Amino acid sequence: MGDDWRELDIANPTQEHSMLREMVRDFVREEVEPQALEHDKHERFNVELFRKLGEYGLLGISVPEKYGGAGMDATAVAIVNEELSYSDPAFCLAYLAHAQLMANNLAQNGSEEQKSRILPKVCSGEWIGCMAMSEPGYGTDVLGMQTSAVQKEDGNWLINGNKMWITNGAIDDQGTPADIVWLYARTGEDDKGRAQITTFLIEKGMDGYAVGQKIYDKSGMRASNTAELVFDNCLVPPENVVGNPGGSMTHMMRNLEIERLGLAAMALGIARRSLSAMNKYASEREAFGHQIRDFGQIQRHIGESWAEYRAIRAYVYDTASSTNLGLAGNRLDSDGVKLFATTAAKNISDRAIQVMGGYGYVGEYVVERLWRDSKLLEIGGGTLESHQKNITRDLVKNHDAIER
Ligand SMILES: Cc1cc2nc3c(=O)[nH]c(=O)nc-3n(C[C@H](O)[C@H](O)[C@H](O)COP(=O)(O)OP(=O)(O)OC[C@H]3O[C@@H](n4cnc5c(N)ncnc54)[C@H](O)[C@@H]3O)c2cc1C
Repeated sequence: MGDDWRELDIANPTQEHSMLREMVRDFVREEVEPQALEHDKHERFNVELFRKLGEYGLLGISVPEKYGGAGMDATAVAIVNEELSYSDPAFCLAYLAHAQLMANNLAQNGSEEQKSRILPKVCSGEWIGCMAMSEPGYGTDVLGMQTSAVQKEDGNWLINGNKMWITNGAIDDQGTPADIVWLYARTGEDDKGRAQITTFLIEKGMDGYAVGQKIYDKSGMRASNTAELVFDNCLVPPENVVGNPGGSMTHMMRNLEIERLGLAAMALGIARRSLSAMNKYASEREAFGHQIRDFGQIQRHIGESWAEYRAIRAYVYDTASSTNLGLAGNRLDSDGVKLFATTAAKNISDRAIQVMGGYGYVGEYVVERLWRDSKLLEIGGGTLESHQKNITRDLVKNHDAIER
Protein backbone atom coordinates (compact mmCIF):
# COMPACT_ATOMS: atom_id res chain seq x y z
CA MET A 1 0.00 0.00 0.00
CA GLY A 2 2.61 2.53 1.31
CA ASP A 3 3.30 4.97 -1.48
CA ASP A 4 0.11 4.19 -3.41
CA TRP A 5 -1.92 5.09 -0.38
CA ARG A 6 0.05 8.26 0.10
CA GLU A 7 -0.73 9.36 -3.45
CA LEU A 8 -4.40 9.32 -2.51
CA ASP A 9 -3.95 11.33 0.66
CA ILE A 10 -4.68 14.87 -0.42
CA ALA A 11 -3.35 16.26 2.89
CA ASN A 12 0.05 14.57 2.44
CA PRO A 13 0.48 14.32 -1.31
CA THR A 14 4.23 13.57 -1.25
CA GLN A 15 6.76 12.07 1.12
CA GLU A 16 8.16 15.55 1.64
CA HIS A 17 4.78 16.78 2.86
CA SER A 18 4.42 13.82 5.23
CA MET A 19 7.86 14.47 6.67
CA LEU A 20 7.09 18.14 7.12
CA ARG A 21 3.87 17.28 8.95
CA GLU A 22 5.68 14.83 11.21
CA MET A 23 8.42 17.33 12.01
CA VAL A 24 5.97 20.11 12.86
CA ARG A 25 3.81 17.72 14.89
CA ASP A 26 6.84 16.73 17.01
CA PHE A 27 7.82 20.36 17.47
CA VAL A 28 4.27 21.24 18.49
CA ARG A 29 4.06 18.41 21.02
CA GLU A 30 7.41 19.21 22.61
CA GLU A 31 7.61 23.00 22.40
CA VAL A 32 4.31 24.64 21.49
CA GLU A 33 1.78 22.76 23.59
CA PRO A 34 3.53 23.25 26.96
CA GLN A 35 3.50 27.05 26.68
CA ALA A 36 0.14 27.70 25.03
CA LEU A 37 -2.11 28.08 28.08
CA GLU A 38 0.25 30.43 29.95
CA HIS A 39 0.86 32.69 26.98
CA ASP A 40 -2.87 32.95 26.32
CA LYS A 41 -3.53 33.78 29.96
CA HIS A 42 -0.92 36.54 30.11
CA GLU A 43 -1.50 37.85 26.55
CA ARG A 44 2.17 37.32 25.76
CA PHE A 45 3.74 36.59 22.39
CA ASN A 46 6.42 33.91 22.72
CA VAL A 47 9.11 35.59 20.67
CA GLU A 48 11.88 33.12 21.61
CA LEU A 49 9.82 30.16 20.44
CA PHE A 50 8.85 32.08 17.33
CA ARG A 51 12.48 32.58 16.35
CA LYS A 52 12.99 28.83 16.76
CA LEU A 53 10.62 28.27 13.86
CA GLY A 54 13.38 29.80 11.76
CA GLU A 55 15.78 27.03 12.76
CA TYR A 56 13.30 24.51 11.37
CA GLY A 57 13.00 26.35 8.06
CA LEU A 58 9.36 27.21 8.70
CA LEU A 59 9.48 31.02 8.70
CA GLY A 60 10.24 31.06 5.00
CA ILE A 61 8.32 27.90 4.14
CA SER A 62 7.31 29.19 0.67
CA VAL A 63 10.38 31.40 0.08
CA PRO A 64 12.92 30.12 -2.47
CA GLU A 65 15.92 28.40 -0.93
CA LYS A 66 18.38 30.94 -2.32
CA TYR A 67 16.90 33.53 0.06
CA GLY A 68 16.99 31.21 3.06
CA GLY A 69 13.55 29.66 2.68
CA ALA A 70 12.30 26.10 2.23
CA GLY A 71 10.87 26.67 -1.26
CA MET A 72 7.70 24.67 -0.60
CA ASP A 73 4.16 24.99 -1.94
CA ALA A 74 0.68 25.96 -0.73
CA THR A 75 0.02 22.47 0.63
CA ALA A 76 3.09 22.81 2.86
CA VAL A 77 1.82 26.19 4.06
CA ALA A 78 -1.51 24.56 4.98
CA ILE A 79 0.23 21.71 6.79
CA VAL A 80 2.26 24.05 9.03
CA ASN A 81 -0.79 26.19 9.82
CA GLU A 82 -2.92 23.16 10.60
CA GLU A 83 -0.35 21.57 12.89
CA LEU A 84 0.52 24.74 14.83
CA SER A 85 -3.17 25.54 15.32
CA TYR A 86 -3.88 22.09 16.72
CA SER A 87 -2.14 23.38 19.79
CA ASP A 88 -1.85 27.16 19.68
CA PRO A 89 -3.79 29.11 17.03
CA ALA A 90 -2.57 32.45 18.41
CA PHE A 91 1.06 31.45 17.97
CA CYS A 92 0.11 30.32 14.48
CA LEU A 93 -1.53 33.66 13.71
CA ALA A 94 1.78 35.39 14.45
CA TYR A 95 3.42 32.82 12.18
CA LEU A 96 0.90 33.43 9.40
CA ALA A 97 1.38 37.21 9.57
CA HIS A 98 5.13 36.78 9.25
CA ALA A 99 5.46 33.84 6.86
CA GLN A 100 2.50 34.34 4.55
CA LEU A 101 1.58 38.02 4.76
CA MET A 102 5.13 39.34 4.83
CA ALA A 103 7.73 36.78 3.66
CA ASN A 104 5.72 35.11 0.90
CA ASN A 105 4.49 38.46 -0.35
CA LEU A 106 8.03 39.78 -0.62
CA ALA A 107 9.27 36.57 -2.25
CA GLN A 108 6.57 36.85 -4.91
CA ASN A 109 6.65 40.59 -5.56
CA GLY A 110 9.89 42.13 -4.35
CA SER A 111 12.86 43.16 -6.47
CA GLU A 112 16.00 41.04 -6.49
CA GLU A 113 17.72 43.64 -4.29
CA GLN A 114 14.86 43.71 -1.75
CA LYS A 115 14.63 39.93 -1.61
CA SER A 116 18.33 39.30 -1.10
CA ARG A 117 18.62 42.11 1.46
CA ILE A 118 15.56 41.30 3.58
CA LEU A 119 14.40 37.71 3.11
CA PRO A 120 17.35 35.91 4.77
CA LYS A 121 16.74 37.89 7.99
CA VAL A 122 13.01 37.19 7.84
CA CYS A 123 13.53 33.47 7.15
CA SER A 124 15.98 33.02 10.03
CA GLY A 125 13.78 34.84 12.54
CA GLU A 126 16.32 37.61 13.12
CA TRP A 127 13.62 39.98 11.86
CA ILE A 128 9.94 39.69 12.69
CA GLY A 129 7.55 40.94 10.04
CA CYS A 130 3.94 41.99 9.66
CA MET A 131 1.50 43.24 7.05
CA ALA A 132 -0.42 46.48 7.54
CA MET A 133 -3.56 46.94 5.46
CA SER A 134 -6.49 47.60 7.84
CA GLU A 135 -7.11 50.99 9.39
CA PRO A 136 -9.22 52.25 12.29
CA GLY A 137 -11.98 53.38 9.89
CA TYR A 138 -11.48 50.95 7.00
CA GLY A 139 -11.43 47.15 7.11
CA THR A 140 -13.59 45.34 4.57
CA ASP A 141 -13.75 48.57 2.60
CA VAL A 142 -10.02 48.38 2.06
CA LEU A 143 -9.85 50.73 -0.91
CA GLY A 144 -11.09 53.51 1.34
CA MET A 145 -7.75 53.44 3.17
CA GLN A 146 -6.50 56.88 4.21
CA THR A 147 -2.83 56.22 4.94
CA SER A 148 -1.12 58.17 2.21
CA ALA A 149 2.32 58.41 0.72
CA VAL A 150 3.67 61.36 -1.23
CA GLN A 151 6.93 61.37 -3.15
CA LYS A 152 9.22 64.32 -2.47
CA GLU A 153 11.45 65.98 -5.02
CA ASP A 154 14.51 64.11 -3.73
CA GLY A 155 12.78 60.79 -4.47
CA ASN A 156 12.03 59.86 -0.86
CA TRP A 157 8.43 59.17 0.22
CA LEU A 158 6.57 60.69 3.16
CA ILE A 159 3.93 58.46 4.74
CA ASN A 160 1.15 59.57 7.06
CA GLY A 161 -1.66 57.60 8.65
CA ASN A 162 -2.61 54.89 11.12
CA LYS A 163 -2.92 51.15 10.65
CA MET A 164 -5.07 49.08 12.99
CA TRP A 165 -5.22 45.45 14.16
CA ILE A 166 -1.75 44.60 12.93
CA THR A 167 -0.62 41.14 14.00
CA ASN A 168 3.06 41.29 15.10
CA GLY A 169 2.79 45.09 14.90
CA ALA A 170 4.28 45.20 18.41
CA ILE A 171 6.71 42.50 19.48
CA ASP A 172 6.30 43.04 23.22
CA ASP A 173 4.50 45.12 25.84
CA GLN A 174 7.16 47.84 25.68
CA GLY A 175 6.07 49.01 22.23
CA THR A 176 8.94 47.49 20.26
CA PRO A 177 7.75 47.61 16.65
CA ALA A 178 8.07 44.84 14.06
CA ASP A 179 11.43 44.83 12.29
CA ILE A 180 9.76 45.02 8.91
CA VAL A 181 6.28 46.08 7.84
CA TRP A 182 4.68 45.30 4.49
CA LEU A 183 2.65 48.50 4.30
CA TYR A 184 -0.09 49.44 1.88
CA ALA A 185 -0.66 53.15 1.36
CA ARG A 186 -2.70 55.36 -0.93
CA THR A 187 -0.59 57.14 -3.55
CA GLY A 188 -3.37 58.37 -5.80
CA GLU A 189 -6.96 57.68 -6.68
CA ASP A 190 -8.96 56.47 -9.65
CA ASP A 191 -11.90 58.34 -11.18
CA LYS A 192 -14.25 56.74 -8.60
CA GLY A 193 -12.14 58.13 -5.76
CA ARG A 194 -10.82 54.69 -4.80
CA ALA A 195 -7.24 54.36 -3.63
CA GLN A 196 -4.43 53.49 -5.94
CA ILE A 197 -2.26 51.46 -3.68
CA THR A 198 1.49 51.20 -3.32
CA THR A 199 3.48 48.84 -1.12
CA PHE A 200 6.28 50.14 1.12
CA LEU A 201 8.82 48.18 3.14
CA ILE A 202 9.07 49.95 6.48
CA GLU A 203 12.04 49.05 8.65
CA LYS A 204 12.38 49.45 12.39
CA GLY A 205 14.29 52.65 13.14
CA MET A 206 12.89 54.64 10.23
CA ASP A 207 11.89 58.13 11.35
CA GLY A 208 8.18 58.53 11.99
CA TYR A 209 7.34 54.81 12.35
CA ALA A 210 6.09 53.76 15.79
CA VAL A 211 3.66 51.55 17.64
CA GLY A 212 0.56 53.54 18.62
CA GLN A 213 -0.77 50.94 21.06
CA LYS A 214 -0.75 47.25 21.70
CA ILE A 215 -4.38 46.10 21.78
CA TYR A 216 -5.19 44.24 25.00
CA ASP A 217 -8.11 42.15 26.16
CA LYS A 218 -8.87 40.38 22.91
CA SER A 219 -11.36 37.54 23.28
CA GLY A 220 -9.01 35.06 21.62
CA MET A 221 -5.68 34.95 19.82
CA ARG A 222 -4.27 36.46 22.98
CA ALA A 223 -0.78 35.01 22.55
CA SER A 224 -0.33 36.95 19.33
CA ASN A 225 0.25 40.65 19.59
CA THR A 226 -2.10 43.00 17.80
CA ALA A 227 -1.18 46.67 17.48
CA GLU A 228 -2.03 50.02 16.03
CA LEU A 229 0.83 51.49 14.01
CA VAL A 230 1.41 55.18 13.51
CA PHE A 231 3.15 56.74 10.51
CA ASP A 232 3.88 60.38 11.19
CA ASN A 233 5.85 61.90 8.33
CA CYS A 234 7.60 58.56 8.03
CA LEU A 235 10.45 58.95 5.56
CA VAL A 236 10.98 56.00 3.21
CA PRO A 237 13.66 55.74 0.53
CA PRO A 238 12.64 54.82 -3.01
CA GLU A 239 14.44 51.47 -2.83
CA ASN A 240 11.81 50.38 -0.27
CA VAL A 241 8.91 50.72 -2.71
CA VAL A 242 7.73 47.34 -4.00
CA GLY A 243 6.89 47.26 -7.70
CA ASN A 244 5.43 50.25 -9.48
CA PRO A 245 3.76 53.06 -7.54
CA GLY A 246 0.00 52.56 -7.67
CA GLY A 247 0.37 48.97 -8.87
CA SER A 248 -0.14 46.97 -5.69
CA MET A 249 -3.76 45.96 -6.15
CA THR A 250 -2.88 42.67 -7.85
CA HIS A 251 -0.42 41.45 -5.28
CA MET A 252 -2.65 42.60 -2.42
CA MET A 253 -5.49 40.45 -3.82
CA ARG A 254 -3.19 37.53 -4.53
CA ASN A 255 -1.82 37.59 -1.01
CA LEU A 256 -5.33 37.70 0.44
CA GLU A 257 -5.98 34.38 -1.30
CA ILE A 258 -2.96 32.80 0.40
CA GLU A 259 -3.99 34.34 3.71
CA ARG A 260 -7.49 32.89 3.44
CA LEU A 261 -6.18 29.42 2.68
CA GLY A 262 -3.81 29.74 5.67
CA LEU A 263 -6.62 30.82 7.98
CA ALA A 264 -8.81 27.94 6.76
CA ALA A 265 -5.95 25.53 7.53
CA MET A 266 -5.79 27.04 11.02
CA ALA A 267 -9.50 26.26 11.38
CA LEU A 268 -8.73 22.69 10.38
CA GLY A 269 -6.21 22.37 13.22
CA ILE A 270 -8.78 23.73 15.69
CA ALA A 271 -11.42 21.33 14.38
CA ARG A 272 -9.16 18.28 14.64
CA ARG A 273 -8.05 19.07 18.18
CA SER A 274 -11.59 19.80 19.35
CA LEU A 275 -12.92 16.59 17.85
CA SER A 276 -10.08 14.61 19.36
CA ALA A 277 -10.76 16.09 22.80
CA MET A 278 -14.50 15.47 22.72
CA ASN A 279 -14.11 11.95 21.38
CA LYS A 280 -11.70 10.91 24.17
CA TYR A 281 -13.75 12.58 26.86
CA ALA A 282 -16.96 10.90 25.71
CA SER A 283 -15.38 7.50 26.51
CA GLU A 284 -13.85 8.58 29.81
CA ARG A 285 -16.86 10.29 31.33
CA GLU A 286 -19.73 8.32 32.73
CA ALA A 287 -23.20 9.50 33.71
CA PHE A 288 -26.21 7.49 34.76
CA GLY A 289 -24.03 4.39 34.65
CA HIS A 290 -23.06 4.82 30.98
CA GLN A 291 -20.24 6.33 29.01
CA ILE A 292 -21.66 9.61 27.78
CA ARG A 293 -20.95 8.51 24.18
CA ASP A 294 -23.90 6.14 24.55
CA PHE A 295 -26.29 9.09 24.64
CA GLY A 296 -27.86 10.08 21.34
CA GLN A 297 -27.39 13.80 21.90
CA ILE A 298 -23.64 13.31 22.45
CA GLN A 299 -23.52 11.13 19.35
CA ARG A 300 -24.98 13.98 17.37
CA HIS A 301 -22.17 16.30 18.54
CA ILE A 302 -19.48 13.77 17.67
CA GLY A 303 -21.01 12.52 14.44
CA GLU A 304 -21.62 15.96 12.97
CA SER A 305 -18.17 17.12 14.05
CA TRP A 306 -16.49 14.17 12.34
CA ALA A 307 -18.32 14.84 9.07
CA GLU A 308 -17.55 18.56 9.17
CA TYR A 309 -13.92 17.96 10.11
CA ARG A 310 -13.49 15.65 7.12
CA ALA A 311 -15.16 18.17 4.83
CA ILE A 312 -12.88 20.99 6.04
CA ARG A 313 -9.83 18.79 5.50
CA ALA A 314 -10.87 17.87 1.97
CA TYR A 315 -11.68 21.46 1.00
CA VAL A 316 -8.51 22.92 2.54
CA TYR A 317 -6.17 20.52 0.77
CA ASP A 318 -8.13 20.58 -2.47
CA THR A 319 -7.79 24.37 -2.50
CA ALA A 320 -4.13 24.15 -1.55
CA SER A 321 -3.41 21.75 -4.40
CA SER A 322 -4.86 24.23 -6.91
CA THR A 323 -3.21 27.31 -5.38
CA ASN A 324 -0.15 28.64 -7.12
CA LEU A 325 1.61 30.91 -4.64
CA GLY A 326 2.77 33.14 -7.47
CA LEU A 327 -0.54 33.65 -9.24
CA ALA A 328 -3.91 35.15 -8.35
CA GLY A 329 -7.02 33.44 -9.64
CA ASN A 330 -8.22 31.15 -6.86
CA ARG A 331 -10.49 33.63 -5.14
CA LEU A 332 -13.64 31.54 -5.41
CA ASP A 333 -12.14 28.71 -3.40
CA SER A 334 -9.97 30.75 -1.06
CA ASP A 335 -13.12 32.62 -0.04
CA GLY A 336 -15.18 29.44 -0.08
CA VAL A 337 -12.85 27.39 2.06
CA LYS A 338 -12.42 30.12 4.64
CA LEU A 339 -16.16 30.75 4.76
CA PHE A 340 -16.89 27.09 5.44
CA ALA A 341 -13.91 26.04 7.54
CA THR A 342 -13.97 28.87 10.07
CA THR A 343 -17.60 28.56 11.12
CA ALA A 344 -17.38 24.76 11.09
CA ALA A 345 -14.31 24.90 13.37
CA LYS A 346 -16.08 27.31 15.70
CA ASN A 347 -19.06 24.97 15.88
CA ILE A 348 -16.88 21.91 16.49
CA SER A 349 -15.00 23.62 19.32
CA ASP A 350 -18.34 24.75 20.74
CA ARG A 351 -19.60 21.16 20.67
CA ALA A 352 -16.39 19.99 22.33
CA ILE A 353 -17.09 22.34 25.24
CA GLN A 354 -20.66 21.05 25.41
CA VAL A 355 -19.58 17.40 25.45
CA MET A 356 -17.01 18.12 28.15
CA GLY A 357 -19.45 20.01 30.34
CA GLY A 358 -17.90 22.17 33.09
CA TYR A 359 -14.40 20.89 32.32
CA GLY A 360 -14.73 22.06 28.74
CA TYR A 361 -15.30 25.58 30.00
CA VAL A 362 -11.93 25.70 31.79
CA GLY A 363 -8.60 26.67 30.21
CA GLU A 364 -6.71 23.55 31.22
CA TYR A 365 -8.91 21.46 28.90
CA VAL A 366 -7.88 23.59 25.88
CA VAL A 367 -11.14 23.66 23.91
CA GLU A 368 -12.45 26.89 25.42
CA ARG A 369 -9.30 28.61 24.17
CA LEU A 370 -9.74 27.11 20.71
CA TRP A 371 -13.35 28.29 20.70
CA ARG A 372 -12.29 31.86 21.50
CA ASP A 373 -9.49 31.69 18.91
CA SER A 374 -11.81 30.29 16.24
CA LYS A 375 -14.04 33.36 16.37
CA LEU A 376 -11.27 35.57 15.02
CA LEU A 377 -11.10 33.41 11.90
CA GLU A 378 -14.60 34.59 10.98
CA ILE A 379 -13.35 38.20 11.03
CA GLY A 380 -9.63 38.46 10.20
CA GLY A 381 -8.39 38.15 6.63
CA GLY A 382 -11.91 38.98 5.47
CA THR A 383 -15.21 38.69 7.30
CA LEU A 384 -17.72 35.96 6.53
CA GLU A 385 -19.85 38.59 4.83
CA SER A 386 -16.99 39.64 2.55
CA HIS A 387 -16.54 36.02 1.44
CA GLN A 388 -20.27 35.72 0.73
CA LYS A 389 -20.09 38.93 -1.29
CA ASN A 390 -17.00 37.84 -3.26
CA ILE A 391 -18.33 34.36 -4.02
CA THR A 392 -21.65 35.67 -5.26
CA ARG A 393 -19.88 38.23 -7.40
CA ASP A 394 -17.39 35.71 -8.83
CA LEU A 395 -20.10 33.22 -9.71
CA VAL A 396 -21.58 35.74 -12.14
CA LYS A 397 -18.36 35.78 -14.15
CA ASN A 398 -17.57 32.16 -13.54
CA HIS A 399 -20.82 30.23 -13.55
CA ASP A 400 -18.98 27.26 -15.08
CA ALA A 401 -17.22 26.68 -11.76
CA ILE A 402 -20.48 25.14 -10.53
CA GLU A 403 -20.93 22.68 -13.37
CA ARG A 404 -17.41 21.45 -14.06
C1 LIG B 1 -6.83 39.81 16.07
C2 LIG B 1 -6.84 40.51 14.73
C3 LIG B 1 -5.71 40.45 13.93
C4 LIG B 1 -5.69 41.13 12.70
N1 LIG B 1 -4.52 41.14 11.96
C5 LIG B 1 -4.44 41.98 10.88
C6 LIG B 1 -3.18 42.17 10.21
O1 LIG B 1 -2.16 41.55 10.55
N2 LIG B 1 -3.13 43.06 9.19
C7 LIG B 1 -4.24 43.75 8.77
O2 LIG B 1 -4.12 44.55 7.84
N3 LIG B 1 -5.45 43.57 9.39
C8 LIG B 1 -5.57 42.72 10.43
N4 LIG B 1 -6.78 42.56 11.07
C9 LIG B 1 -7.93 43.30 10.60
C10 LIG B 1 -9.03 42.45 9.95
O3 LIG B 1 -8.60 42.03 8.68
C11 LIG B 1 -10.29 43.30 9.92
O4 LIG B 1 -10.77 43.36 11.27
C12 LIG B 1 -11.34 42.75 9.01
O5 LIG B 1 -10.95 42.86 7.66
C13 LIG B 1 -12.69 43.45 9.20
O6 LIG B 1 -12.55 44.84 9.17
P1 LIG B 1 -13.20 45.74 10.32
O7 LIG B 1 -12.81 45.16 11.63
O8 LIG B 1 -12.83 47.14 10.04
O9 LIG B 1 -14.76 45.53 10.15
P2 LIG B 1 -15.68 46.25 9.07
O10 LIG B 1 -15.13 46.09 7.73
O11 LIG B 1 -16.01 47.61 9.54
O12 LIG B 1 -16.98 45.34 9.19
C14 LIG B 1 -17.98 45.48 10.21
C15 LIG B 1 -19.14 44.57 9.80
O13 LIG B 1 -19.73 45.08 8.59
C16 LIG B 1 -19.74 44.06 7.62
N5 LIG B 1 -19.56 44.63 6.28
C17 LIG B 1 -18.66 45.53 5.86
N6 LIG B 1 -18.80 45.76 4.54
C18 LIG B 1 -19.80 44.96 4.12
C19 LIG B 1 -20.43 44.73 2.87
N7 LIG B 1 -20.04 45.35 1.74
N8 LIG B 1 -21.44 43.83 2.81
C20 LIG B 1 -21.86 43.19 3.92
N9 LIG B 1 -21.30 43.36 5.13
C21 LIG B 1 -20.30 44.24 5.23
C22 LIG B 1 -18.58 43.15 7.99
O14 LIG B 1 -18.70 41.86 7.40
C23 LIG B 1 -18.71 43.13 9.51
O15 LIG B 1 -19.71 42.24 9.89
C24 LIG B 1 -6.84 41.83 12.26
C25 LIG B 1 -7.99 41.84 13.06
C26 LIG B 1 -7.99 41.22 14.29
C27 LIG B 1 -9.24 41.31 15.15
